[in-house]
Amino acid sequence: MTTVDTKASTRSAAAPSHAVPWDYAPAPESVKVTIQDRYGLYIGGKWVATNATFDTVNPATEQSLSQVAQADASHVDQAVAAARSAFPVWAALPGKERGKYLFRIARRIQERARELAVLETMDGGKPIKESRDIDIPLAAAHFFYHAGWADKLAYAFPGQAAPKPIGVCGQIIPWNFPLLMAAWKIAPALACGNTVVLKPAETTSLTALRLAEICDEIGLPPGVVNIVTGDGRTGEAIVNHPYIDKIAFTGSTEIGKRIARAVAEEQRPTQSGRTDAKRLTLELGGKSPHIIFEDASLDQAVEGIVQGIFFNQGHVCCAGSRLFVQESVLDETLERLNRRMSTLRVGDPLDKNTDVGAINSKQQFDTITRYIDAGIAEGAELCVPGSDNPSTVSSVTGGFDVGHFCRPCFFRNVQPSHRVAREEIFGPVLAVLSFRTPEEAIQRANNTRFGLAAGIWTDKGSKIFDMAARLEAGVVWLNTYNRFDPTSPFGGYKESGFGREGGRHGLRAYVTT
Ligand code: NAP
Ligand code: MG
Repeated sequence: MTTVDTKASTRSAAAPSHAVPWDYAPAPESVKVTIQDRYGLYIGGKWVATNATFDTVNPATEQSLSQVAQADASHVDQAVAAARSAFPVWAALPGKERGKYLFRIARRIQERARELAVLETMDGGKPIKESRDIDIPLAAAHFFYHAGWADKLAYAFPGQAAPKPIGVCGQIIPWNFPLLMAAWKIAPALACGNTVVLKPAETTSLTALRLAEICDEIGLPPGVVNIVTGDGRTGEAIVNHPYIDKIAFTGSTEIGKRIARAVAEEQRPTQSGRTDAKRLTLELGGKSPHIIFEDASLDQAVEGIVQGIFFNQGHVCCAGSRLFVQESVLDETLERLNRRMSTLRVGDPLDKNTDVGAINSKQQFDTITRYIDAGIAEGAELCVPGSDNPSTVSSVTGGFDVGHFCRPCFFRNVQPSHRVAREEIFGPVLAVLSFRTPEEAIQRANNTRFGLAAGIWTDKGSKIFDMAARLEAGVVWLNTYNRFDPTSPFGGYKESGFGREGGRHGLRAYVTT
């Protein structure tokens, strides 16, 4: 077992080469977290060792943090068996009793918040101010919110029969909000009386494993929550397992399609006593439009743009990655955006002043680099505010000695046919387009295969309501962006998936009525 001194990783993290004449003093996070050398799987309330393991790495330092267990199909089988045997008792508990467990998990997340925030930042690269102020508090809020529903489910869907749990839920989550996504998935499932087998993403397993510790600490009955770590093969074993009743997946559209196909083609074994198909919800990718009208408050809109695309290094499914600015204010908006972006601090994620942390993995870093190359090759103009270098890929990525870092940047003179305007990049890269009329804004914004989120900035309430109704997006933010709350349903349509998480709508995915 090792205790990691977060200051050590601070010293080794890179500073941008284009340092401004004056700078903030370093403000490194001082909390120390203990990370085991090796982690097992959490199955049936016990830690299960595996022969195969893989490294989990701190993307800011490129150093290994721990060895994480690689679960194979037999481990998934054990986890499903544990969840199945825990299900009848858990489902039969009075809602008030289940609610108490959820309240305890929420409280324990709050009590261990600082440690969880540091771990999230070390394992995933996001700035400590985001994991501390957004990810971890929201994860606790999801457990609190669903604890409140546990004994009120009979009132959730008026006019319908009292809802019943579905059974064992297989849940697969991505790396961009590791603990938060785990909370989004586990809290509603448990509140409704289901048991779960959850697989975190390969690069960010550590906080899900801490959550397993928390389940243990608060005395959650064994088997109600099982955490199996591993790569895509572990996810596949969950998807294909015959005794899982529901799959909840958050991740890329590509894998989402593959899962939809597998679930559609599956023959459910008759001996399970079920003839109905496995249930499925998919929360997938996005390329969300962010629309700025000439009557918007431009300074506020610029803050919204920054929050919309550079939050969490742009590793956000609903990132406002396509910016549409009304032509009459395009130059002024870009000038203000340029100025604001040049003040964003890129670097050590554990520094409390850092705005943009490390890219989650080498693989994602390479993907972003490829997209920037493609944008330049297609003729869009790359702008990297605050960089003295000519606008090439190295002005985004150069000057960092260690770690995977990208400076926030945007492309202007983008055509709707460019790849940077059509495909999800999942990095701090904004595509800027323009429009003349609201009609044109709608038509351009909806010209995408995705439909997750959208943002509108205008001073006119009537325009807001008209636009919001016509935008093809699951979530529309008005004069704000990237706001999340457990009471508010979140999800997409078109190739951004189906099903909702959060709010009363999110409960529906975890019950039969
Ligand atoms: P991903 O590659 O699709 O992976 C998501 C999860 O699926 C990971 O745990 C992954 O394991 C696992 N997986 C990989 N191959 C699988 C397979 N064949 N069968 C079952 N599971 C498999 O996505 P990502 O790159 O981690 O995450 C980024 C994507 O998630 C983006 O497209 C983003 O928009 C989307 N996202 C959507 C939402 C939403 O609410 N709509 C929220 C957050 C993120 P490994 O980690 O080992 O590969
Ligand atoms: Mg990692």
